Amino acid sequence: AECTIDGQWKVGSIHPYGNISVSPSAAVLNYGQGIFEGMKAFRTPEDEIVTFRPDENAKRFAEGAGRMSMPPVPKDIFEDAVKKVISANRDYVPPVGVGSLYIRPLLIGTGAILGLGPAPSYTFLIYVSPVASYFKGGQLSPIDLIVEEDYHRAAPGGTGSTKCVGNYSPVLKVQLQAKKEGFSDVIYLDAKENKYIEEVSSCNFFVVKGKTIATPALEGTILPGITRKSIIELARDKGYTVEERKVGLDEVLSADECFCTGTAVVVVPVGSVTHRGKKTVFCDGKIGATGQMLYDELTGIQQGRLKDTKGWIEHVPKD
Ligand code: PMP
Repeated sequence: AECTIDGQWKVGSIHPYGNISVSPSAAVLNYGQGIFEGMKAFRTPEDEIVTFRPDENAKRFAEGAGRMSMPPVPKDIFEDAVKKVISANRDYVPPVGVGSLYIRPLLIGTGAILGLGPAPSYTFLIYVSPVASYFKGGQLSPIDLIVEEDYHRAAPGGTGSTKCVGNYSPVLKVQLQAKKEGFSDVIYLDAKENKYIEEVSSCNFFVVKGKTIATPALEGTILPGITRKSIIELARDKGYTVEERKVGLDEVLSADECFCTGTAVVVVPVGSVTHRGKKTVFCDGKIGATGQMLYDELTGIQQGRLKDTKGWIEHVPKD
């Protein structure tokens, strides 16, 4: 769908996947004026297609638009567009246990502007792709992380809490280097003191010690993950104490268990964390009991195996 700066969205339409044409002076190409979302659709055992908390994605997308001086996509337009795109691609939603359909909504400043400023017009588009596990070795395969001390993902007052395109470009170099060294991904620390955990390139971080789970608080520099929010609720329901606060690196290195959460990664156990050349292994490199339990709870709801008592699941009707 197209929109001008006054925020009047035109009705969109569905097209086969292909290139889009934008001006060389589009604000998104020159000034990074763009945000995106990541969502998934699942095929339930009853062969229905469902999505997970799309209202939360709509909300985060609208908030991100505000931060990037873009006209927000109204919640009903966002959710309706997501459902229509999924529905048009329902045959591509993989069977339960095989994978899911990843949905990528984008809002970009496509209007031409030479001087620094917001674009005069915007494009809201959604594309989809079937996906399996994000990291190598399957969804529950523990990942090996390295702590990054030289580069930061986000600064206080920056755009770390927004899913804007510019948050991901600084990560590419760091992630590539880590992968070359054999790591799955990188743990970023806070830019102020370089000692508190922020997050991983595309997921939030949790530490477990006994029946207490801690995760970095939302202080504007990390993405408010929808999986994070859901896992906090599920863990509390299961009797865990969940603390949202600063989480020091020392705490990670002495944790019983760590895991990461995100739409793409789901709940992934951390097998090891390497800091200044020293590798700390968790749970003998296997998945921990808490991570396994939370994975089962979350995917059970998402894939329709467990009752959706929280109203997190939205059915995607056939057209
Ligand atoms: N942090 C970052 C930087 C991310 O890109 C993502 C993925 N959207 C997450 C955390 C996890 O967020 P969510 O659970 O909403 O996918």
